[in-house]
Amino acid sequence: MKVLVVNCGSSSIKYQLYEMPGWTILAKGLVERIGESESSLVQDNGGEKHYREMPVADHEEAMLLILRSLTEGATQVVGSFNEIKAVGHRVVHGGEEFTGSVHINDDVIASIERYADLAPLHNPANLSGIRAAQNALPDIPQVACFDTAFHTTIPKVAYMYALPYELYEQYGIRRYGFHGTSHRWVARRSAKLFGRHKYDINCITCHLGNGCSITAVKDGRSIDTSMGLTPLEGLVMGTRSGSFDPAILFYLAEKGYDTNALKTLCNKKSGLLGISGISNDMRTLVEKAREDDDRAALAIDVFCYGIKKYIGAYAAAMGRVDAIVFTGGIGENSTYVREKICRGFEPLGIILDLLRNKQTVGVEGEISDASSRVKLLVIPTDEERAIAGDTYEIAMEKQKKK
Ligand code: ADP
Repeated sequence: MKVLVVNCGSSSIKYQLYEMPGWTILAKGLVERIGESESSLVQDNGGEKHYREMPVADHEEAMLLILRSLTEGATQVVGSFNEIKAVGHRVVHGGEEFTGSVHINDDVIASIERYADLAPLHNPANLSGIRAAQNALPDIPQVACFDTAFHTTIPKVAYMYALPYELYEQYGIRRYGFHGTSHRWVARRSAKLFGRHKYDINCITCHLGNGCSITAVKDGRSIDTSMGLTPLEGLVMGTRSGSFDPAILFYLAEKGYDTNALKTLCNKKSGLLGISGISNDMRTLVEKAREDDDRAALAIDVFCYGIKKYIGAYAAAMGRVDAIVFTGGIGENSTYVREKICRGFEPLGIILDLLRNKQTVGVEGEISDASSRVKLLVIPTDEERAIAGDTYEIAMEKQKKK
């Protein structure tokens, strides 16, 4: 069964076409700068990259372009649209309602629309992708996989903010958490590496990419996570601040910052970029830190210190920790960051093997010392693969019911 996975941003669509079961990737690609005069499509058919530039007005046009790219010309990997039997969509916010991936119907669409209030940058773009795929491929199952779903097991004690209770009831203000598909993927993979059932693992999963979040996974289920009502809370990120004293916002408002300026400040100008004044890219910062740039070094230190504190807090929340897992672009690749995070943890039984750490870049592997009580693991994330798996399962169930 050919399953198309799409991840729609406001001006881009990432896609991968899988042959299921077996997860063979037939092609993957990206349409960027949708809505601009010079949009582009790049498609990779297993090492062979094809690049095209053309105007793409909206998501509808982008989806047709993707389908044509998969079925025609030099980029063709399938004979026709009809061979694609299901589409899986990444959806950022599923509120408290969606505890797993679901087949998309009118009620699901209405809910995604409702949660757009909580994810105004993401859910509308995800919906545009769903509508475009429904129009282009009306007769096949479309599946929604929510970033929030894995975190719906977080208990109330961990998801409530100490704000007036009515705000939770009236507006749904609570911790939801994000990157759930990634945290679930690496948690399940950790259980496999331990040779255990998926619900027989306690791990702390650190997703460190441009966006960063950390999750406490107890008995295979998320019991706490660092992102909150929105993906701004928690760890220091590339350009996002993560958590800070909310009174800073009132202070800046009194200095003349309006809501939009504050949003831009916290989402686009803070984090690694804000502290370093140089870049949001960890590779650049590590290079600069090695050249004795104080601000680059400080940005990395603040980033790593924040992660260290969360690991301590989650270990306390969980009681027993089998593994700490690093994933995402930084988690998978930055030996420097992993070493900084782990340094000083030795008395708690978390001991990094420096050589294994250096040798494990962009691949799965154990990086802890043999004497470490807690295993340190690097597990490359694969959200698309997880979405393809869920979509295939749901499409097969629908076929059986027919
Ligand atoms: P996204 O969250 O957008 O999916 P990624 O998971 O690709 O992002 O992570 C991007 C981050 O990973 C960037 O900060 C980048 O510098 C960092 N990164 C990628 N490769 C390396 C590397 N070899 N060393 C250090 N950081 C890296």
